Amino acid sequence: MVSRVIPVDTFDLVIFGGTGDLARRKILPGLYRRFVAEQMPADARIIGAARSEFDDDGYRAFVAEALDEFLPASLRDAKAEAEFLARLSYIPIDARGTGGWKELAATVRKDVIHAFYFSVGPGLFGDLAERLHEYKIADAQSRVVVEKPFGRDLESARALNAVLAASFDETQIYRIDHYLGKETVQNLMAVRFGNVLFEPLWNSQYIDHIQITVAETVGVGGRGGYYDKSGAMRDMVQNHLMQLLCLIAMEPPSHFDPDAVRDEKLKVIRALEPIEPHQLVRGQYGPDGDKPGYREDVEDPQSRTESFIAMKTQIANWRWAGTPFYLRTGKKLKSRMSEIAIFFKRTRHSIFTENEGEHQNVLIIRLQPDEGMTLTVTIKEPGPGGMRLVDVPLDMSFAEALGPHAEDVPDAYERLIMDVIRGNQTLFMRGDEVEAAWAWTDPIIEGWQKRGDVPKPYDTGSSGPDDALMLLHRDGRRWREIRPEGS
Ligand code: NAP
Repeated sequence: MVSRVIPVDTFDLVIFGGTGDLARRKILPGLYRRFVAEQMPADARIIGAARSEFDDDGYRAFVAEALDEFLPASLRDAKAEAEFLARLSYIPIDARGTGGWKELAATVRKDVIHAFYFSVGPGLFGDLAERLHEYKIADAQSRVVVEKPFGRDLESARALNAVLAASFDETQIYRIDHYLGKETVQNLMAVRFGNVLFEPLWNSQYIDHIQITVAETVGVGGRGGYYDKSGAMRDMVQNHLMQLLCLIAMEPPSHFDPDAVRDEKLKVIRALEPIEPHQLVRGQYGPDGDKPGYREDVEDPQSRTESFIAMKTQIANWRWAGTPFYLRTGKKLKSRMSEIAIFFKRTRHSIFTENEGEHQNVLIIRLQPDEGMTLTVTIKEPGPGGMRLVDVPLDMSFAEALGPHAEDVPDAYERLIMDVIRGNQTLFMRGDEVEAAWAWTDPIIEGWQKRGDVPKPYDTGSSGPDDALMLLHRDGRRWREIRPEGS
C-alpha cells in the first residue's frame, strides 16, 4: 500500500519557544520529516523565536543537533537536511519585551498562510497574542497553536480562553492534544463510521463495557515539580483519556467536519456522570530497590498527588446507559501500553454445551507501542473431540499492513502541524470542549481533596494498586493485562 502525501500550500510558521524541549523533540523533527516526505512547498519557511541569542546560522546548527538527537539514522540525509535547514531563520524575542517584534513583522508574509506556534508556558499566551496584534503581525487569517496543559481547572481554562479570544477568533485557535493526531485514534473513527459492521452494535445493548488504558513505565523523571502540582487526573485523564472516550462514545457526526465532530464530542463530555468516591482509585508508585519512589522523585514526603488513577465512569444517554467505561493511567507500571478495549456482550443463548458463556468478542485498538487493531472472534478449536470453542485474534498491525511505507506515516505532531497549515480544526479541541472537560474534572478533584484521600501505594512494575483491580472485580469483570511490549 502506498501512502499518499498531499502537499500543503506555502506557509510561514513562527515557533515561539523555538529553543525549548518540545520544539527540539517534536516540532522541528516533525517538520523535517514532512519536508523529506515532500509535503512542504519549496518556499515554506520556519521562524524560531525565543529569548536566547542566536543568529540564523547559530539556530540552524542548534536545530541540526536536535535532528541528530531525535531522528532515526534511516531518515537522515545530508542534502535534505541542508535544504531543510535553509528554510529556517531565527529572531530573538522576549514575549514580554519590545525587541525583535518589528523584525518579525517585516519577516512574516501576510499573503501566505501564517501560523504562530505558542510552544511556551501558558503564562505567556496573553503577551504573545497582544504583541502579535500591536505590531500588526497577526490578522484575521493567522492561525495560533497552543499546547497542553490548557489550564489546571475550569477557572484557569476560562481565563486562557478569554486571553486568546481577545485576540483571535475560535476558528483561528488550534489547541493541541497530540493523542488526536495518532493514526489509530483516527482509525477509530474510520472503523466506526466507514464500516457497516460495527456501528449497529455500538451501544449498550451489545457492548458490555469499555476499558481505556494508558500505562507508562517511566516515572515523573525531571518533571517532578510540574507533575506534583498536576497528577494523573489533570495530566492525562482530563485531556487524552477524555478525548479517546469521546471518540468512542460520540454519535455519528453528520459530516467529518470540525464543528460537526466537536459538537458530538462536547455532548459526550456533558453527559458524563459525576464520579462517586467508590468509583475511583488513586495510587502512588513506591521505591524500587535503590530507585526512589514518587514522593522522593517530587521531593515532598507528604505529597498526595496521584501517579496512577483508575475510575469507572458512565455516560447518561440512550446509547450508553448501563455500559461502564473504565479508565486507568499511571506511571512506573509493568509496561508501556495504550489501548482501548471494547468488550462486546456474550451471546444471549449458547447452543454449545462446552465453555458455554465464556466467550466474548473484544475489539482492541492499540495506540502504542505498535499501533493496530485486534478483534477476537470465537471459533471451533481445530481437531476432533467435539465442539470446543476458542477465542482467536483477527489482528491488523498498521506497520505490517502498510509494509515498507509504515515509516512514511506521520507521527501525531507532524500530522497536526500539517492540519494547522491546511486550516483543518477537526483534530483540535474547541474552547467549550476543554471547559466542559474541566467542569466534569473539578468536582472529582475537589471531592478527594475535601475528603483528604491519600493515594494507595503500588509497586513499580505492577499494574497499579490492588484496589484498582477490585474496581472491576466488584462488577464481575477484569482489567486486560498490561502486557510487556511485543507480547
Ligand atoms: P521549555 O523547554 O521550558 O521551553 C520553553 C521555551 O519558551 C524555550 O524556547 C524558551 O526559550 C521560551 N521562553 C521562555 N520564556 C520566554 C519569554 N519570556 N519570551 C520568549 N520565549 C520564552 O518548555 P517545553 O517543554 O518546550 O514546553 C513548551 C510548552 O509545551 C509548555 O506549555 C509545555 O507545557 C507544553 N508541552 C510540552 C511537552 C514536551 O514534551 N516538552 C509536551 C506537551 C506540552 P528561551 O529561554 O530561549 O527564551
